[in-house]
Amino acid sequence: MTESSKHPEAFPAPPAGFRGAFSVEEARRTEFSEHSGILRSVPSAVAVPEDADDVAAVVRWAAENGLALVPRSAGTGMPGGNIGPGVALNLMTNFRRIEPVDAERRTVRLQPGATLAEVNAAAAAHGLHFPPDPSSGARAAFGGLIANNSAGSHTVRYGATRRWIESVDVVLADGSRATATRGTPVDAPRLREILARVDALLAEHREAIDRDWPRVRKNSSGYALREYLESGDAVDLLVGSEGTLALVTAATARLDRIRPCRGLALLEFTDLEAAGAAVHRILELDPATCEMIDRTFIDLVRDSGEDPGYPLREGLEAILFVEVEGDSRAQVADELGRVERAMTGVADRVSLAVDKEQQERFWHVRHAASPLIARMAGQRVSMQFIEDGVVPVDRLADYIRLLRATLARHGLPAVIFGHAGDGNLHVNPLVDVTKPGWREDAEAVVYEVAEGVAALGGTMAGEHGDGRLRAPLLRTIWGDEIADVFRAVKEIFDPAGMLNPGVILPLPGQRPLDAIKYAVVGR
Ligand SMILES: Cc1cc2nc3c(=O)[nH]c(=O)nc-3n(C[C@H](O)[C@H](O)[C@H](O)COP(=O)(O)OP(=O)(O)OC[C@H]3O[C@@H](n4cnc5c(N)ncnc54)[C@H](O)[C@@H]3O)c2cc1C
Repeated sequence: MTESSKHPEAFPAPPAGFRGAFSVEEARRTEFSEHSGILRSVPSAVAVPEDADDVAAVVRWAAENGLALVPRSAGTGMPGGNIGPGVALNLMTNFRRIEPVDAERRTVRLQPGATLAEVNAAAAAHGLHFPPDPSSGARAAFGGLIANNSAGSHTVRYGATRRWIESVDVVLADGSRATATRGTPVDAPRLREILARVDALLAEHREAIDRDWPRVRKNSSGYALREYLESGDAVDLLVGSEGTLALVTAATARLDRIRPCRGLALLEFTDLEAAGAAVHRILELDPATCEMIDRTFIDLVRDSGEDPGYPLREGLEAILFVEVEGDSRAQVADELGRVERAMTGVADRVSLAVDKEQQERFWHVRHAASPLIARMAGQRVSMQFIEDGVVPVDRLADYIRLLRATLARHGLPAVIFGHAGDGNLHVNPLVDVTKPGWREDAEAVVYEVAEGVAALGGTMAGEHGDGRLRAPLLRTIWGDEIADVFRAVKEIFDPAGMLNPGVILPLPGQRPLDAIKYAVVGR
């Protein structure tokens, strides 16, 4: 790809027949240079297609002109899959449609710019919802959810986005269109041909994929080769491909019944090992959530002097938030009783909340840290560069120890919390950006944690995707054989490398923090 060196003024005219908006103006490009994560990259142009035909026209035009495309919906993605030096392709503005919910089949047809909140509002009228629940759901759109295989606190029970996508309409790298539907042979000749080549490739490497695939409960790193091998459904391969294999222009999502009643157990632990073991026991009870905050988080909230609404004792190593759900208060009380019995003698203290207000008070502890971090005085910046690692649940305590030791070695305080039931932790290191060498330290942490996570049998992306940030870690996490298969899959779908280059698969010489948006002192 040569587009990054192209001066915007020298840009080729927008594609013939293109009905959408197209701009090379600096102000417009700057708008698309930012995202919710720590990176920044100014695109060379911005295209806002009207519909799927327009997307196909842009793809053909980009292919003819040797340009890269960076698809994007709401821009809340964390690792920079939504930014890049290519042409930013806005698949949000004109892709907001949600068809009427099919309540009988529990499905809904939608376009990739529909947000999770909008889809859930439409589904709620039928007592339904989309179960994976990223906490960014008020803004995040289905293009991003599908591309990242997004997840949330209820994924421990309901799985991530992939499980709930029935079909996707895509534009492929040659500008042709295709639909992939679960359980149905693909009609489109180009996608059929691609899948035949992928199938032949995977057959050669099946043993390595079976042997080396991470045994994690959820994953958004690499391509979902094992899931695709198991189902034979192209949907499984396309979900989680972060805009690097195809562009999603529509999808059918499956919905589930809303359970009306909830209860919450708050479990305190003074021993990290016991907390790790407790997660295993809790999973046997099929909880609706099993969230965790660790000592770093608890100390931050307690030491802030603010009232968290729940007494946070000294010496706590972890707190688990176990939600149960059901159709009646009696059922919920019964489920909570099972949690309490299972945790007696395991947790140091168990507190139960059945009524809504009390549950909200408990959850407040979990939600108190973000505003505190945002308000933290001084020169420290909360940066998400190891924010999404996932390990097998029985290695959770080891993973927390690895994080604490690595961060301490580099003098970085951090806040650790996340989806313990899925072995997926969010980590916000607090970086002093006035300290010379902070960027090198941060990058060293990325590589050291990646080595450790690989040794624990995990990946660096439980739900956020690899993006640009984690593409350079692909070999460390997946090993040479599977990383080579990922590259071969990409080349079959996108031989010219025009769809989101540098995402999932690294470009030569690419490093995690190349596009970091914070100024580096002394340079
Ligand atoms: C405060 C906050 C909380 C968050 N909480 C969670 C959470 O709980 N769980 C979770 O999983 N994530 C979470 N995220 C991350 C993020 O919100 C999700 O990854 C989300 O699904 C991204 O959606 P988006 O519409 O913003 O996508 P974008 O950021 O626009 O794009 C994300 C990726 O999808 C690709 N893409 C977008 N549209 C298309 C398309 N139509 N076709 C092909 N590729 C496309 C992009 O190229 C990019 O690689 C959080 C983020 C923030 C800022």
